[in-house]
Amino acid sequence: MNNKLYGNLIFELSKKGRCGYSLPENNFEEFSSDQLPENLRRQEPASLPECDELTVVRHYTNHSANNFGVNNGFYPLGSCTMKYNPAINEEIAAMKEFAGLHPMQPAETCQGALEVYYNLQQMLAELTGLSEFTLNPCAGAHGELTGLMVIRSYHESRHDHARTKIIIPDSAHGTNPASAAVCGLEVVEVKSRPDGLVDVDNLREVVAANSGQIAGMMMTNPNTLGLFEHDIPAIQQIVHECGGLMYYDGANLNPMLGVCRPGDMGFDVMHINLHKTFSTPHGGGGPGSGPVGVRAGLEQFLPTPRIVPADDDSSLLVKTGCQDGSLGSVGCFFGNYAVILRAYAYLLSLGRENVKMVGPLATLNANYIKESLKDVYELPISGLCKHEFVFDGLKDKSTHVTTMDVAKRLLDYGYHAPTIYFPLLFHESLMIEPTENESKETLDGFISVMRTIADEARTNPELVKTAPHQTPIGRVDDVLAAKHPIVTYRQMVNS
Ligand SMILES: *Cc1c(COP(=O)(O)O)cnc(C)c1O
Repeated sequence: MNNKLYGNLIFELSKKGRCGYSLPENNFEEFSSDQLPENLRRQEPASLPECDELTVVRHYTNHSANNFGVNNGFYPLGSCTMKYNPAINEEIAAMKEFAGLHPMQPAETCQGALEVYYNLQQMLAELTGLSEFTLNPCAGAHGELTGLMVIRSYHESRHDHARTKIIIPDSAHGTNPASAAVCGLEVVEVKSRPDGLVDVDNLREVVAANSGQIAGMMMTNPNTLGLFEHDIPAIQQIVHECGGLMYYDGANLNPMLGVCRPGDMGFDVMHINLHKTFSTPHGGGGPGSGPVGVRAGLEQFLPTPRIVPADDDSSLLVKTGCQDGSLGSVGCFFGNYAVILRAYAYLLSLGRENVKMVGPLATLNANYIKESLKDVYELPISGLCKHEFVFDGLKDKSTHVTTMDVAKRLLDYGYHAPTIYFPLLFHESLMIEPTENESKETLDGFISVMRTIADEARTNPELVKTAPHQTPIGRVDDVLAAKHPIVTYRQMVNS
């Protein structure tokens, strides 16, 4: 795109008196000041940009072309999982029969929509080996909070009020301790071993030191390093024996799909990120959906509204309120219905058999990239990973080319950068997640570019350190942008 021609801000293109659109004549009476108090009325005309039609159209079209998404190219953003988002999901979510629904309309007038909701609850229960799901939470973190509230309600229902502590591994996603704090639980950290997995001996010590106070333990599996937590059988036994419940952070469910189920591993409560595992574009912070599932015996604590079949199975009912131990409402109405629809469409279009290929393919793709690059990028934890893995920067540290430089240089080659400087366990974390949908050719292209960048770091480090060179703007000052963001346009003169 040519920024010089079309300008960065529509205000900069404004020419006094230029007009791209004329409004029909105003047939309404002029406002009089008793209808709108004087102090609320504008004293001078708003200084809106004045442009001709083509300038406006070109300005916004060219800006929109600067977006990068999964439809433009490879997006290996570990932990955030931007994956295949089939266009048919968008079409279904936009259908007026769904988009036009009102959340307060009577259940008998929207049985089809409730059926989608109910069926997805059942599918998630089957995929995870749990008893029942709520689709109400609107994000993964919101699901964590809801799940922890279920755990708290369970202990309170048993008058076991001393259980105020939750065990969280040091490798956990930052939302885990944050959700625990919002739920009023105190976080007790359990360490990772050098192999990146939960240290079971340390867990035994933590449990012994807090006897009678443990509400439960949150675990992410595969964990934030993309590693399968092999000791779950022992871990869940230790936690259950001390009276706590096991919470499964299911944001990394991709590689587990069709291979194993949290319910079978002994977990009591979990959340799933529909916007990660079951499609829905969510760049820029939304929209999301974080359904929460529970094992048999905990269903009554789930939030409302709940969609339940009528006694005679002839229709679906909406149950509201806090009867029988329910938490009550955790958000607006039924949650993010459009995301729920997309997940449902995604699962139906894959089908029962193909869903079983998601996990193995996600795992194969991640391991293929890892093994193809580990001679030039530092792999701190070797061995088989699941859907994602972490490099600790370039192997050759003498170049002083950082993970940030590599990420910026990738933009020049038309790739979205991986997740960088997360997890915090390493200094130069570069976290790569290809997802299951990418072809071998795409992965090979990425591998070859990553190798080229490693070469450049040796032969021409300045080129990498000053990247990107091909993007509309070069390297921004991250610290300045974060500390002093300018989010409004300060008008100079009304030219
Ligand atoms: C993304 C993620 C979360 C939080 O999910 P949001 O939808 O972003 O709130 C929690 N845990 C893990 C492991 C994640 O990757």
